[in-house]
Amino acid sequence: MRRRTLGTLVLLAILSVVGVVLTQYIWLRQAQQYQNEQVALQKQQAAQIDKQFNDRVTIALTDVTERILSINRDPSDLFDAVKQERPNYFAVTINDTIHPYLLESLLKHEFERRGIEDDFEYGIYDCFTDSIVYGNYVSLKDSLIADTAEHSELLKLGKDGHYFGVYFPRRTTSIWEPKQSGTVTWIYPAIVTLIVFAFFGYSVWVILRQKRLGRMKNDFIGNMTHELKTPISTIALSSEVLTDPNIINEPERLRSYANIIRTENERLRTQVERVLQLSTLDKGELELKREAVDLHKVVNEVTSAFTVQLNERKGEMTTELKATRAIVEGDHVHLTNAVINLVDNAVKYSLNEPRITIRSSNHGGYIKLEVLDNGIGIKREDTKHIFERFYRVHTGNVHNVKGFGLGLHYVEEIVRAHGGRVAVSSELGKGSTFTLDLPVS
Ligand code: ADP
Repeated sequence: MRRRTLGTLVLLAILSVVGVVLTQYIWLRQAQQYQNEQVALQKQQAAQIDKQFNDRVTIALTDVTERILSINRDPSDLFDAVKQERPNYFAVTINDTIHPYLLESLLKHEFERRGIEDDFEYGIYDCFTDSIVYGNYVSLKDSLIADTAEHSELLKLGKDGHYFGVYFPRRTTSIWEPKQSGTVTWIYPAIVTLIVFAFFGYSVWVILRQKRLGRMKNDFIGNMTHELKTPISTIALSSEVLTDPNIINEPERLRSYANIIRTENERLRTQVERVLQLSTLDKGELELKREAVDLHKVVNEVTSAFTVQLNERKGEMTTELKATRAIVEGDHVHLTNAVINLVDNAVKYSLNEPRITIRSSNHGGYIKLEVLDNGIGIKREDTKHIFERFYRVHTGNVHNVKGFGLGLHYVEEIVRAHGGRVAVSSELGKGSTFTLDLPVS
């Protein structure tokens, strides 16, 4: 995928996600507004129904009072007699004789007449002591008048100092309150949006990573083809020379061409070995053949393997092996390869005569192996990436060192498989130090 296409795709995806979120926001706001309006309307309706009920009860009670007073022909105290003290409780001040039987039947009659079907309790109180004198629960659905009549026959309360109250136990509260569901309405879409964003971010990250890996892999294939092509053509040329029958007469030339073939063949073998190292790591098949490995011995073997190469570059390698415990429980071949990779880099990335030092020391249960060089060094931001697969520092044309970007990745994997760590410290233009810490056995 081209960079521009990817950019456009990411931009379009961002725009669509933002669009979805905005639409959702607008819809939610509208829904919330609609809900608020509904709530206000329902509240208004509930208040109206309540008011209607209260008015009907007040009128009914006024009528009841009027009827009682009219029996005794003294309706002068009717004014403001009915008072609603709570949403479901009405008190009626009446300075007259209250006969419970009469009161109850009047109440029932008036309530029925006005379509008030709620059960109610009424009580007759003494104004001075505020204690109940008589009370009864009345359900309009079943008539229990007989019982009341029997008892109330006995009661005929005196003229002064009485009032009665009517209570509707089934009517709890007058104003209807909606459930507060505003936060819940927001939480669900917010979570969904967050998940969408997280997935979107993750997808972009994966695409970019895959793109970078793809580019690195292409670089690797280009590099590898080039690296393999050079020795193959050199071998082809040399073998052609060897096919010349007259070469027998020039033994010096013959030997030199045979040597070229051998060296180039060795180079090919190393390259193939590197690619094989990668495929071993990729498949996750890194099986270590564990044995007691003397790291000092490994260092000495590697040092002598590089003697010719260093002599050619007029370089030198010194060793300061001060560790007293240098035996590691590990794989001899892989550990040797790791040290070779570090020394090979130290030689490759030195512009002038390479001066390489290999040091060893013990700390805790570890052996520390340091490979120091006076090479080109590595920029700080690159040091974070050099252990990644296929990563190579872009140096422009300053030096044209061939490589696959696999060596340090391999070193890191091997050291980690042995329970150790690898680190680098470097100064651009001055040199680098690679440190391996491995647990000693
Ligand atoms: P390769 O050497 O094949 O490119 P490596 O994984 O061995 O791959 O190294 C990754 C990068 O780290 C190299 O491209 C190089 O830029 C940098 N590097 C490694 N070792 C050194 C060193 N001793 N001095 C300077 N740069 C180094």
